[in-house]
Amino acid sequence: MKREFAVIGLGRFGGSICRELSAEGMDVLAIDIYEDKVKEFKNIAAHAVIADTTDENVLKELGIRNFDHVIVAIGDDIQASILTTLMLKELGINKITVKAQNDYHEKVLNKIGADHVVHPERDMGKRIAHSIISTNILDH
Ligand code: ATP
Repeated sequence: MKREFAVIGLGRFGGSICRELSAEGMDVLAIDIYEDKVKEFKNIAAHAVIADTTDENVLKELGIRNFDHVIVAIGDDIQASILTTLMLKELGINKITVKAQNDYHEKVLNKIGADHVVHPERDMGKRIAHSIISTNILDH
């Protein structure tokens, strides 16, 4: 039986995804390389573990293959994000969502087969711009 979600990287973005999914009753495995981050999510996610996901053996030990959807929310360390995504792809994860830091990062993620690449600041900027326009239209 496939488990639901694993979130790698518990910064503002990954942390927020983890909180929301968990609040909606989803089974979430929260992963971060730093102990303090993992401690913060112990009482929020169903499971929280310290792990460096750039290590293929670590990913295997976590049983990451058993997850249906993995969210890679590693930000600044673009190399770690790319390597993690590549290995998740090789391990046959069904659905991989990745946060991109810039256009170059996004291009590489698309090339290696990430299913959904998000660019939170840019995507949110677009949504807010459209919402400002539609509010303006309604106001006139
Ligand atoms: P945000 O804007 O969402 O706060 P960010 O873009 O500043 O995040 P970082 O803080 O660099 O991104 O990374 C997000 C999280 O990913 C951090 O908590 C960091 O510890 C974790 N992380 C970085 N490298 C790894 C790794 N190799 N394995 C697991 N977690 C990692």
